[in-house]
Amino acid sequence: MAKIQELNAVVAQKVELTPRLMILRVVADGWQLPHFTPGQYVVLGLPPSAPRCEMSELELQPPPSDKLIRRAYSISSSSLSSEYMDFYISLVSNGALTPRIFALDVGDRLWLSPHPVGMFTLADVPPEKNIVLVATGTGLAPYMSMLSTDLDCGSPRQLAVLHGAFHSWDLGYRAELETLQHLCSNLTYTPTIDRPEDEPVAWHGHTGWVQQLWQAGVVAKAWGFQPAPDNTDVFLCGVQGMIEDMVGILVAENFKEQSHGQVGEIHIERY
Ligand SMILES: Cc1cc2nc3c(=O)[nH]c(=O)nc-3n(C[C@H](O)[C@H](O)[C@H](O)COP(=O)(O)OP(=O)(O)OC[C@H]3O[C@@H](n4cnc5c(N)ncnc54)[C@H](O)[C@@H]3O)c2cc1C
Repeated sequence: MAKIQELNAVVAQKVELTPRLMILRVVADGWQLPHFTPGQYVVLGLPPSAPRCEMSELELQPPPSDKLIRRAYSISSSSLSSEYMDFYISLVSNGALTPRIFALDVGDRLWLSPHPVGMFTLADVPPEKNIVLVATGTGLAPYMSMLSTDLDCGSPRQLAVLHGAFHSWDLGYRAELETLQHLCSNLTYTPTIDRPEDEPVAWHGHTGWVQQLWQAGVVAKAWGFQPAPDNTDVFLCGVQGMIEDMVGILVAENFKEQSHGQVGEIHIERY
């Protein structure tokens, strides 16, 4: 059985944006949260005995009873804060871990791996290059950490965030990104929703997928020049379909995927 001592962290805040989408704030209990590079992730864990939330369905496969259920989550908070880590999490109804995370309350314990990992960071982007951050759903999480840590307002570097979600109410961090856009002339934020027919009040923003925003040239229009491999790096985070489509589109425009030992302008994190 997973032991309670293994649960080394505590829920400090739970912001439910919708019944299926939340920002979870976690603090370490009796140890110091490690430093991390924005864009990295940690592993969260709960025992199989932890209750599942009401919205959940039966899990596909009951997990073994003697091990923590562990999954990777990008840190969405700034690395400038060492007091807590935030996570932007969506519910997978028949999943093993997220129904248990959604059942947590403030004060409940969970496991947080003390070693953040991942190469999906701004570290390899040359300082003179512009950056496009493309996300679906909770794929926005690593970008919120990057922007709240490293955004240099008014610098010559242009940044664009393209965020796709089903509905307007699924666009987490929208207010924060709109505020940053008002304050920072070099940041553009473009959300899009792909189920406008569900909106209770007509939606006047973009509709469709993030890849369609790119193809429609929204970044080029905002920046006044065409993003190209010699002036821009592109980050992709979220569902597989978006990543495959975007890689195809970008490769046709001569962008190359970054991989171990190979320099490239496309950076990918697959959820
Ligand atoms: C590096 C990395 C960072 C990640 N960061 C985040 C993050 O910041 N926020 C976040 O919400 N998730 C993130 N994930 C995904 C996360 O690790 C889990 O896979 C996800 O939360 C589902 O876990 P689960 O145990 O509830 O579902 P599982 O039991 O693992 O999956 C159950 C079923 O649902 C499918 N499934 C898994 N994920 C999804 C999904 N998102 N939508 C629909 N179906 C799915 C699986 O293929 C499987 O068939 C990240 C993954 C990686 C690899």
